[in-house]
Amino acid sequence: MITNMEKIKTLLEEKGIKPTFQRLKILEYLSNNLNNHPTVEMVYEKLLNDIPTLSLTTVYNTLNNFLEKRLVFGVTITGTEVRYDFNTDYHHHFLCKKCGQIIDIDLKCAYAEGEKGIISGHRIDEIHGYFKGICKDCSKNVGKKSRGRSSS
Ligand SMILES: [Zn+2]
Ligand SMILES: [Zn+2]
Repeated sequence: MITNMEKIKTLLEEKGIKPTFQRLKILEYLSNNLNNHPTVEMVYEKLLNDIPTLSLTTVYNTLNNFLEKRLVFGVTITGTEVRYDFNTDYHHHFLCKKCGQIIDIDLKCAYAEGEKGIISGHRIDEIHGYFKGICKDCSKNVGKKSRGRSSS
């Protein structure tokens, strides 16, 4: 049986990154949290319980290294911070302006398929589409003026 941790270790080794305990834990955290696209601080705070010796700088440097090696993507949809994404298949992101959730959008982009995109002679390596609005959960709550009444 191949554990998740072994898969993570292989991923690091394939990219020529030495699989130290901290790097393994950081990449494992990202792989387990595909939906929340965490920031450096979020990763740091979550892992501090497991690794009391961890420093914010280490997390920052490690994530930067992962970015350079294209193990993760950086999502800058909020404009103020980098959110890290373990899912490096082409996909786009939706930011809810109300609750701040970043949601994966499954929208096919013609250039992401096939061709290995050349646009006007430029070689495209990454495609990031950013959409902003109000998510479906927040939309449901619009107009519901009464507090604390759940309708489930
Ligand atoms: Zn929302
Ligand atoms: Zn994503």
